[in-house]
Amino acid sequence: MVDNLYNNYDDIRREYENIRLKNSLLSDDIRNKIYDENPILKDLDLKIMKSYMDIGLNKIDGNATSELQTKLDKLIEERNKYISTNNIDPTYRDTKYDCNKCKDTGFIDGKKCSCFIKKEIELFDKISHFKNYIKEDNFDNLDPSFYKQSGLDINGLSYSEYMKNAVNSIKSGIELMDDIPYNIILIGPPGTGKTFLSRCAGAYALEHNKSVLYVNVNEYISSLKPDYAGEPLETYAIAADLFILDDLGTENISDFTNTKLNYIIDKRLNDKKSTIITTNLMLSQIRDNYMSQMYSRISHAYISCYLAGEDLRRIKNANI
Ligand SMILES: [Zn+2]
Repeated sequence: MVDNLYNNYDDIRREYENIRLKNSLLSDDIRNKIYDENPILKDLDLKIMKSYMDIGLNKIDGNATSELQTKLDKLIEERNKYISTNNIDPTYRDTKYDCNKCKDTGFIDGKKCSCFIKKEIELFDKISHFKNYIKEDNFDNLDPSFYKQSGLDINGLSYSEYMKNAVNSIKSGIELMDDIPYNIILIGPPGTGKTFLSRCAGAYALEHNKSVLYVNVNEYISSLKPDYAGEPLETYAIAADLFILDDLGTENISDFTNTKLNYIIDKRLNDKKSTIITTNLMLSQIRDNYMSQMYSRISHAYISCYLAGEDLRRIKNANI
């Protein structure tokens, strides 16, 4: 297994700088080698460059440039002919990139490029070891028949049907999350498979090349305390394409936790980013225990999904 390269965003930023430097040197090397072998081409390129400058300067001075333009066109034609006759790669003057989409910047129009998301996925995995969890916890390991046909009836559906719908909703929510942020809160007592389902969702998001930060609420809160030695997770929680906050309600609720949780939930909604929360609290308990703004955000912007019955993993294992 390849050791993970990144400890934080600075490492990713530095890697892009190194890639750009490497490619700039590589591009110079390629061009210089071609010039060494083809002095005629070097001479043509210098003349072309000078022609462009002459045209520019004459335009500034308000002089006619048509003669210069004809000269330039002729030089370019001559160059094209030379390139094709001598089988020279026509991109020899271009800067080379590892990623042509973002030109090794990691971003396209301010949005993450897929090459950046790949690196972010590795970074987040170092933080949460999420890929270990999803070896087992993924939708491929979830047979709908494993949902126990309990006597429960939710919204006129049997529990099994309700959960099948929930899984389909999660899948399509994740497929569409670039355009429509997907927020869901999985509510249920311990041992009903909330964590499992949230990890399945995360695995599905990874399959769709989304960066996923999966953290337990206690781990998240601890990382934000002033005496915490590691990296605070807030930056990553803001940046992740999908943020999964597991086990809301198991932390010690205080002003500090309240403020921090309210902030990240609010921030992600404002940024139109998708979030999955799992909790053993009913919505009324969230209303009673947390800031009213947080309750209001969750109750209005999140889909509520209620889990009951036995732990999905236990049922699955029992059926093997
Ligand atoms: Zn890229």
